[in-house]
This record gives sequence, C-alpha cells and structure tokens, in this order.
Amino acid sequence: MKNLYGFSLEQLEEYFLSIGSKKFHAKQLFSWLYEKRITSFEEITDIKKETLEILKRDCSLEPLKIVDVQEDEDVLKYLFALSDQEHVEAVLMKHDYGNSVCISSQVGCNMGCAFCESGRRKKVRNLEVHEMVLQILMIEKEFGKRISHVVVMGIGEPFDNYENLLTFFKIINHPNGLAIGARHITVSTCGIVPKILEFADFPLQINLAISLHAPNDALRSSFMPINKAYPLEEVMDAVKIYLKKTNRRVTFEYIMLKDVNDSKECAEELCRILKGINCYVNLIPYNETENISFMRTSTIQIMRFYDILKKNHIGVTIRREFGGNISAACGQLRSKKEDV
Ligand code: SAH
Repeated sequence: MKNLYGFSLEQLEEYFLSIGSKKFHAKQLFSWLYEKRITSFEEITDIKKETLEILKRDCSLEPLKIVDVQEDEDVLKYLFALSDQEHVEAVLMKHDYGNSVCISSQVGCNMGCAFCESGRRKKVRNLEVHEMVLQILMIEKEFGKRISHVVVMGIGEPFDNYENLLTFFKIINHPNGLAIGARHITVSTCGIVPKILEFADFPLQINLAISLHAPNDALRSSFMPINKAYPLEEVMDAVKIYLKKTNRRVTFEYIMLKDVNDSKECAEELCRILKGINCYVNLIPYNETENISFMRTSTIQIMRFYDILKKNHIGVTIRREFGGNISAACGQLRSKKEDV
C-alpha cells in the first residue's frame, strides 16, 4: 500500500489513468491533501464512490507520529516515529522572514564525517517521499502556522536518496501542493559529484549548498571520507558546471573547527579556490557534542577568518545559532530514540 503523500502530481495522474479513471482527479486530490488537509477519505466529495474505493484499497493517508517535541526559544525539535519503529528528527526555526523547517532525508547516514553526531549511526534506510513530505505537514499542523522555508540539512545525505528527494521537491513546490517557492528550498550535500551534475538539469530553482569545510584535499579527507571518492577539484569542477547551467549562486558551508581548519592560511587558501566562483561562504560555529572531540573556534578567530574572506571579496556570513540547548543544532540530530 502506497502512502498518498508520496505521489507527485504526475504520478497521481498516471495512477488515476492506470485504474481507468480520469487524470484531472489528481489535481483535485492534491487540493484535498495539501489545501484542505483532509485526514480521511470520507471527506473527499468530488471523486466518485467506486474510484474512491479503489484509492482506499491501494493507498493510505497515514500520518507520521510525533513522539517528542522540545522547545528552546525560537526553535522546536520534533521526533518522529516511522512505521517501522525507526525515528528521525526535524527542526522548526522561527525567523523574522518566516518559519523554516530542517528535515531529515535518511535514517542514519553513511558519509561518516568525523565531526557530525547525526552520522555516528550508519544508514539504516532512505526515507520514503511521504516521510519527507509529512515531516513538514505534521510540523505545520502542530505549530499552526505556515512553513515558508525548507532546508534538507537534517539527518542523512540527501543526494544519497536522490530520486525520492526530487519527487519530494516537486510535491512541496507545486502550487497545488505545499506551494513552497523553489528559492525558499535549500538542499545541502557533502559533495556527491555525479548528483551535483544531475541536479544542474533539475528544472526547479532550488538552492544548493555544499558542505566544504576545508580548502584542500589533505585536510578535507582527514575528516570527510567522501573526499577520497570525490576530491575537492572534482567538486569544484561540478559546481562550476552547475553554475554555468543554472546561472545561480551556491553556498559553501564551512564549519569552524578549532585548530583544524580555522587558520589564516586556511582562509587564504579558501579564497584562492573560490576566486571567481559565484558563491558565498556560510561560516558555521561548530556545535560541540559529547561523543566527538572537535572543538569550536573562538568567536574572535571566526571574525578573523571572516575578515580575510571579506577582504578578498568573497561573500561571507556567519550562521546564526539555533537550538544548541536542545541538541537541535547542525550536526546534533540523531536517528535513534534511545539517544534523545
Ligand atoms: N549530508 C548533508 C546534509 C547535512 S547538512 C551535508 O553534509 O551537507 C548539515 C550541515 O551541518 C552540514 O554542513 C554539516 O557538515 C554540518 N554539521 C555537521 N555536524 C555539525 C556540528 N556539530 N556543528 C555544526 N555543523 C555541523
């Protein structure tokens, strides 16, 4: 049985045709799911009974279960139980420009970045499309206000769940779906080169962020195993192709790790490799976690690093910190309930 929140509009159209029904029911159903937010098939009034019976037989409307909510000022962290008893987390951030949700894309993660808590548990499985869509729907329902921005930066490597990710984007972006503007959606990858290249051809204008974290291969490989498969030069070449095709700008995320990647030399090397690329750098104060020994760079050192980038005309911001007190910040999410 397929969950209805996992269908894109085109897939629903195909489905209706496959059961000998009409294509236009797809749009009606989308509107029931995402505009009227039904919770049972009984609420649907414009699809005839026999067709509804088939729909009910083939598909479910099952929501996700929120099993825990933690709050800290402008942040709420939600723990979801999936139907196979696995768990993932998502985070709601209240900004002055709107409400943003950071969602997970996998249970566990295989990328093995040494600094990341979320990746300490190996990938168990990819999230299904409906499990991604429902993280947003459930939070919106519980919170009672519209979610205007979505970032795929929770647990998992989204480009390691690529097909589902694209369907998810189509659903949340569609005007009859969640109608979240593509420019309000961001996906972050640790640098899976073939998928960056494929993403360049995806028609929606979704923002791309790359977890860079180091300006050379020796350093990057020392804490990001993915760099051995896709070294920096290949990542940068893929980004250049992406930029040329899409005419957009990318974000490079750079976690500030004390005495590891935060020196003046690193900043200068970073400027050299980013020179001429339409991008900006988001410096992320590292969130320390109990199980990992990396430490956070001091604010003054972050500012020095920032200044070097500025002087070299590289766009740079320092990420506002959110949710540290409830372990809802970057790299602190977990997919195992017992750990929470
Ligand atoms: N796998 C994807 C999506 C995760 S996004 C990716 O790597 O981009 C999460 C972002 O938070 C990434 O940039 C990640 O490197 C960063 N991050 C991980 N652990 C962190 C920590 N402890 N403190 C701050 N940022 C962290």
